[in-house]
Amino acid sequence: MSNINIVVAGPRGNMGKEAVKMVAATENFTLIAVIDSKNDGNLLADLADMPNLQVPVYTDMDRCFSEHDVDVLIDLTAPAFGKKHMEIAFMHGVRPVVGTTGFSEQDIKELRNKAEEKGLGAIIAPNFAVGAILMMKFSQMAAKYMPDVEIIERHHDRKLDAPSGTAIKTAQLIAEVREAKQQGHPNEKEELIGARGADFEGMKIHSVRLPGLVAHQEVIFGGEGQTLTIRHDSINRASFMPGVRLAVETVLKIDTLVYGLENIID
Ligand code: NAP
Repeated sequence: MSNINIVVAGPRGNMGKEAVKMVAATENFTLIAVIDSKNDGNLLADLADMPNLQVPVYTDMDRCFSEHDVDVLIDLTAPAFGKKHMEIAFMHGVRPVVGTTGFSEQDIKELRNKAEEKGLGAIIAPNFAVGAILMMKFSQMAAKYMPDVEIIERHHDRKLDAPSGTAIKTAQLIAEVREAKQQGHPNEKEELIGARGADFEGMKIHSVRLPGLVAHQEVIFGGEGQTLTIRHDSINRASFMPGVRLAVETVLKIDTLVYGLENIID
């Protein structure tokens, strides 16, 4: 396979660090530069806890893409920046692979239009772990037969958005196969606001944030005399990297925006 020139945004973050290691360790991937919120003009090797790579650090993505020939941007930053970073990438003919969460349905619609206007591939995946994709698929299968369902997602306490992109995506997949249904007692009353979680077409989503956690989700189905729990745990960030690698290879072969890793794996 021919060489792929890559820029990673968010290299000091939990996910970005893993992505830098993965790109450096993949034979036909070349790390051209990184985009950080600070440290402009340094080399990656100058930053604490970074691999010894003589790769330039930019804070200005626009300038980075003007100065280098880049095929793919891997964006692992923060919800406030994902959309803007994708727009800058499109302007420079760079294909984005985005793990940053927090996109609305409207954002995705607008970004898909932009990708198609430019004839560029783009991939946004709220979860790059293959096991999490299976958890979502199995949940969709189960919801057809057991439509009463609640989602509990647990993440580390530095996560900015709630519920997680994976929980929303799971709820969307379940909503495709079941009628909207108000769950719980029709007269139930929250004694403390938020006790019953967020509502997605009658489905409840609960977000737990604690130090020590990485990314975990349980989808609990209830039926007469039985419950079924489908659970996935990412115990470290390396779990996401095979999915990121696959997305980088795939984004070069498509000319639209794909949302969700499940749409690029068999
Ligand atoms: P993190 O540890 O907080 O790292 C984010 C990094 O991005 C920080 O180093 C931050 O720098 C940097 N950053 C923020 N804004 C930036 C900007 N405008 N330009 C360049 N760098 C910027 O977060 P994380 O756990 O790595 O997660 C990153 C994103 O990926 C989040 O949206 C998270 O929800 C998502 N995520 C996705 C998956 C998946 O599989 N798709 C899995 C886990 C997490 P400062 O600290 O200086 O602001």
